[in-house]
Amino acid sequence: MSAPPLSILLATTNRGKLAEWSALLAELPIELLPLSTVLPDMPPTIEDGTTFEENALIKARIAAEAAMMVTIAEDAGLEVDALGGRPGVRSARFAKEGATDSENNAALLEALAEIDDGQRAARFRCVVVLLDPWNESEPETVVQGRCEGSIAREPRGAGGFGYDPLFVVAGMGRTMAELSDDEKNRISHRAQAVAALRPRLEALIEGRLATVARAVAER
Ligand code: IMP
Repeated sequence: MSAPPLSILLATTNRGKLAEWSALLAELPIELLPLSTVLPDMPPTIEDGTTFEENALIKARIAAEAAMMVTIAEDAGLEVDALGGRPGVRSARFAKEGATDSENNAALLEALAEIDDGQRAARFRCVVVLLDPWNESEPETVVQGRCEGSIAREPRGAGGFGYDPLFVVAGMGRTMAELSDDEKNRISHRAQAVAALRPRLEALIEGRLATVARAVAER
């Protein structure tokens, strides 16, 4: 007997993230639904937390309460050592509010113009929250992933999104944007976080299968 896929709301409007999440969960019986499908009229969430975890929790709680669905939210960004960890939670708006990826990349290159090659260490971090509004005993799971690297002197590559063209992956010598989608999805901060989330997703799927089996047996 096969059950329908488990529908999960992915609380993002970022198309790059949606594409990566869809690929990272492709082997599981999960139908990932974006905010634009489930809650098309929802106003943008104000991400005023001071950490990735606070922001991921804010996004997950607002979306899960509005949709009453199992919801995944993530907050991710770039931490540059020479900038004391900036842009961090301000990664999406480093250049200015509503900045494009290329404006943010230009602002980052400018901020690092005087920084020597050996001092440009950075990492991507990703915190993911899964919130199940129907599970009172274990509503929230928080996991994270990181990917080490350094900031190039000019953009390279056309893949990915955000700061990928400037982020040289440690040990690979290529920017994240020069990797294929599959390569990025093997090593990225997001891939690490999804790997950590996997046991919880598998438990949810098993729970769903058990519910379907009970319903069939009671017919
Ligand atoms: P969020 O939507 O608030 O999590 O903003 C994340 C921002 O961090 C994005 O707009 C990107 O600028 C950057 N970012 C997060 N993940 C990635 C990634 O995988 N590659 C490149 N940039 C990323």
